[in-house]
Amino acid sequence: MENPHRILIVDDNKANLLGFKTIINMMLVEIDTAASGFEAIRLAEKIQYALILLDIQMPDMDGFETLEKLRQLPHHEYTPIILISAVYTEDQYKIKGIKTGAVDFLPKPVNPDILRAKVRVFLDLEENRNKLNSLVEELKIKNRLLTEEIRKGEQITRELEIARAKAERASEYKSRLLVNMSHEIRTPVNSILGFADLIINPSVCTSDKEKYLRYVGNSSQNLLFLIDEILEHSRLEAGELKINVSPVEISGLCSELLDSFETIKWQTGKEKIELKLEIDPAHPNLIFNTDSHRLRQVLSNLLNNAFKYTHSGAVSFGYHLAGAEIEFFVKDTGIGVADEDVAQIFNRFKRADNQDDINTSGTGLGLSISKNIIELMGGKIWVTSHAGEGSEFHFTLPLDQSSISTYPEPEIITYDVHVDSEWQDKTILIAEDEQLNFLLLQETLRLSGVRIIWAKTGSESIDLVNAHPEIDLVLMDIRMPEVDGYQATRMIREIRPDLPVIIQTAYALSDDRNKSLKEGGDEYITKPINRLLLLKTMAKYLNKQAM
Ligand code: ADP
Repeated sequence: MENPHRILIVDDNKANLLGFKTIINMMLVEIDTAASGFEAIRLAEKIQYALILLDIQMPDMDGFETLEKLRQLPHHEYTPIILISAVYTEDQYKIKGIKTGAVDFLPKPVNPDILRAKVRVFLDLEENRNKLNSLVEELKIKNRLLTEEIRKGEQITRELEIARAKAERASEYKSRLLVNMSHEIRTPVNSILGFADLIINPSVCTSDKEKYLRYVGNSSQNLLFLIDEILEHSRLEAGELKINVSPVEISGLCSELLDSFETIKWQTGKEKIELKLEIDPAHPNLIFNTDSHRLRQVLSNLLNNAFKYTHSGAVSFGYHLAGAEIEFFVKDTGIGVADEDVAQIFNRFKRADNQDDINTSGTGLGLSISKNIIELMGGKIWVTSHAGEGSEFHFTLPLDQSSISTYPEPEIITYDVHVDSEWQDKTILIAEDEQLNFLLLQETLRLSGVRIIWAKTGSESIDLVNAHPEIDLVLMDIRMPEVDGYQATRMIREIRPDLPVIIQTAYALSDDRNKSLKEGGDEYITKPINRLLLLKTMAKYLNKQAM
């Protein structure tokens, strides 16, 4: 539409039109003519003119009216329009014309040189105006791009700010973790080293040695618990904690915890505290889909705390069904938590001001880990507690109704674990690359009388199973060089599908448990090996064979 050299001449007099055209034609411009105001507007609606020469005196619509209408066309808002008249030559008409939007006024008869000069000037002006307009447009685009760049820059700055704050928090967290851990790790290690030193001292009597050995055992347990907590927390931080759901017998899991905490309470000098399990009487044999390892972990954590922060009275735990959820609780009659600390204790590193003994060990991570786990499993965790009045921790887990079932009363099979000399006619293979670990297992099993064959590598274990058909059971370590425990188990399965394989996993690496069973192990047992549990698990297979 835009043509800087296209001119419109409007005059009702054909001779005038021709005359103007002849004068201007010499200037290499394109010329349109209109014989009325109406025709002029029609043309101007479609064409962008660089200049319009407009006669004032025309029938129907005069030059002033035409001018007014032309100015209303958006692309002719600023087009130079020169009015021409033989009649309206007085100043008042010139002023009216200028006010209506004309840029100049020419009297008739028109002097050709003046007309050409004016046309030239206004065409140049229009051309410059157009150039200016394109520059303005260009500037507008650049301005928009710049604004967009600035907006992006600001966004990047904001994101960097968030990342920096996150990195600072992570770094602060790492420093706190290091400070906390070096203290927490030193405490049990000191006592392990100290008592181990006393144990090898020939002047210490046997009964004291036994006592010191128990201390070493307790401190080792604490150390192990601590390492698990740190690993677990790092996994949560890295978003690597996975939930593995499978049907779980809840009361069975609770009974196991009852058993182990009965033992722990004696080991930690809390034997006077009564421990009770309260199972929902309406759902004693409940099975539902959940992650048994994580559930056990949270309950253990809460029970551990309950014993840690209780000096007399009772600890009770259990569950009941509440609508579409199962609600667990752990209650104690301990020191409680002050109201102002209750909201804080689920945050990491937060330890309430209730430590009556500044040496009560703890990292302040346990509850934060438990909260994360429960939330990952779709539940909620909370506490009701007052200083000196004990604490009640509750957490819920969603119940997928389709996954709920009950199990029939189990057939009670007891395996006698007083196996002194009972397995003299049995042979087991222990696959273990660490000599100390092997020696420990050998000592643990000495009284049972079982015959032990030692495979120091995974491939050796396969060869030995081939060579010794009398082997009744395999205790398989996972982490061994070259052929690992999983590969070895698969090979052994092919050679002797009926041979029971108990896989030993590191407790801290929970993925091992699921993999152990998937890879063909009959059972898994966690390291450090608990003697009673090992004997019970082995009895399940060795005593069965005898039956
Ligand atoms: P910690 O390793 O310090 O026990 P947790 O995260 O398990 O860390 O607990 C955070 C804090 O909550 C504890 O330091 C303690 O002050 C308080 N707490 C947790 N459980 C109990 C409880 N059963 N009775 C009283 N205080 C508790």
